[in-house]
Formats: sequence, structure tokens, C-alpha cells
Amino acid sequence: MPESHLRRRAALRTSLRERGLDALLVTDLRNLRYLTGFTGSNGALLLDAEDEAGSTFCTDGRYQQQAGEQVPELALVVDRASALALAAGAGTRRRVGFESQHVTVDALDALAETARPAEFVRAPHLVEALRLIKDDTEVEALRMACAAADRALADLVEQGGLRPGRTEREVARDLEGRMLDHGASGPAFASIVAAGANSAVPHHRPTDAVLAAGDLVKLDFGALVEGYHSDMTRTLVLGNPADWQREVYDLVAAAQAAGRAALRPGAQVRAVDAAARGVIEDAGRGEQFVHGLGHGVGLEIHEAPSLAKTGEGTLSAGMAVTVEPGVYLPGLGGVRIEDTLVVRDTGPELLTLTTKQLVVV
Ligand code: ZN
Ligand code: ZN
Repeated sequence: MPESHLRRRAALRTSLRERGLDALLVTDLRNLRYLTGFTGSNGALLLDAEDEAGSTFCTDGRYQQQAGEQVPELALVVDRASALALAAGAGTRRRVGFESQHVTVDALDALAETARPAEFVRAPHLVEALRLIKDDTEVEALRMACAAADRALADLVEQGGLRPGRTEREVARDLEGRMLDHGASGPAFASIVAAGANSAVPHHRPTDAVLAAGDLVKLDFGALVEGYHSDMTRTLVLGNPADWQREVYDLVAAAQAAGRAALRPGAQVRAVDAAARGVIEDAGRGEQFVHGLGHGVGLEIHEAPSLAKTGEGTLSAGMAVTVEPGVYLPGLGGVRIEDTLVVRDTGPELLTLTTKQLVVV
């Protein structure tokens, strides 16, 4: 891990020099983790644009020992007001960037004042730009997170955890417990378990609704491993599927396959969305696919790029994204199928390996 952190900080230094910044004050905890491996809840990093030796890490007394273990290579300052303490150490630097997407309006004045005479400059999303392309360490964490989710679902189905009479909430808790059993440090987000008509609600929250024979059951869930999130949706059916259930399932599966096939370096993100959406529109169900096709995933469950009609930019090798079309028939039920994948020159690498055949429980 430390080597990947060194490489990431070196890449960020290049980015700072390109922008004429002498340093960057990093305050977003996910960016801090990405750059240093620190997992505490209070910390900041002043990354010098020239060298590692000029960079300083700050946290408070609760995390002093942890910082010594996780970030031994950086000079450590112990102070509860971590960002302010580092701003005060701006020294003779001329231009110090700050994460303007993260620093609050309330905090800004004090930080800018403290950094003087250095100029405190907006520098949003510089670390996020690096985080777009996942390195091998990150892909390995995503792979483990996806495997934990795959195994949890397999256990749930094999051991009879999906059956008429259980509530959505019981199934969600069961699934989350099984992810912990398979190495997750927690769920990646509040699991969605939606049965019957509830499956037509894209982001339904599990309730005490009882699963019944004939229901579609939509499960959208993921595991958290080393700070990385997996994201997968599968829709199963309890008992023999009705014709309309099979028709909608096959349509969504075809759209999802088209979306996955469109994932290649250089592809416009909106073209990827269109590849999947076109399949659903051609079947006359375009109005029933009410959200974007997918999103980037990594240290956050939703991060860039956005695979949507209004998305900007193109894909690059190493981006981790979801592909998750859905068709929702209000009052009746819905189907979504979602994978987490990595864009590769040789074709997308699938990380969520659970079957996408319609599973009849
Ligand atoms: Zn999801
Ligand atoms: Zn998703």
C-alpha cells in the first residue's frame, strides 16, 4: 500500500506544478485516505508541490498512534484543528490550493487568513481527477468487495434466505450480515430489498412488507472493503415467472449487455448510456427507464464518471463503473440488473460475477 500512496502523491505534485500551485491543503477524508492510507475521522495534509520532505500531515491526539502506523513517512503535526494548523504552516509559499469542493464557506475565511501571506487558491477535484483511474491496488480492493457481495447473495439463495413470508427488512439484514461474514467491513450503502410492487420503486427502502409467491425481488447492495465500494443489483423471482416478468427481465438483460459491450476507452459516456437505453426504447419502454445507466465507483459509492444522457466526457482504461438499466412498471413491479466493471483496452473486466440469468427461487 505505501508504494501506491507514494505514486499517487507524486502524480498530484505534477498536477500542482502544472497549475502553478506551491502546495495543496487536502481536507477531504477520502482524498486523504487515497493519498496516505489514513483512515481516521480527523486529518489534513499539506502536500508540497516540490517534494515529499516539505509535506506535512496533521491529526488530533486520538489518532496520533494510528497516524504513526499508517503514515510513518510524512512529518506529523498533532492538532485538533488540523486544517488550520497546516494553513498556519504555509510558510513562504506563494500559492496554496485548497479543496473548494469540500471546504465550507464558514471555514474558508479563517483558513485564508491563517495561510497569509500565501494566497489561498481554489483547486477543486485535483485528487478526484487522479481517482478516476483505478490503480491495481484499488482494483484489487474493488474485486474483494464485489466477491463479498457475490458470496453473500449465493449463500442467501442457497440457504433459503429468500422465501415467501420473510420481510424486506429481514432479507436486507441477512444479506448485510453475510457480506460481513465474507470479509466486508460494512455494507457499501443501505441495501435495497424491494418485493412485488415495491420493486417498481428504483430506490425503495426495505420495509416490513412480506415477500410473497410470484413476486419479483430486487436486491441492490454492495460491500465495503478497504474503503472501496461494490455495487450490484439482481432481480429474482419467487416461483414461476409470469410472462410479463420474463419479458421485462429479458429486455433489461439485453440492455445491460449492450451497455457493458459499449464500455471501451474513448467511448463517450452518453453513448454508453444510449447503447443500453436504445434497446429499451426500441421495445417501447423508454419512459419506464427513469434513471441514468451507471456511475463511477471507488472510495465513494457514486463518483465520476456519470454514465447518463447528460454525462460529459469519455471513458479511459482503468475507470471503474456500474451498468444498471432498469424497467419499472408502477404498481406492478420492476427489474434492474447492475454490475460493477473496470474499463480495459481488451474489453470490460466484470467484477460482480453472480449470474444474470433469471433466477427462480
Ligand atoms: Zn446499486
Ligand atoms: Zn449503482
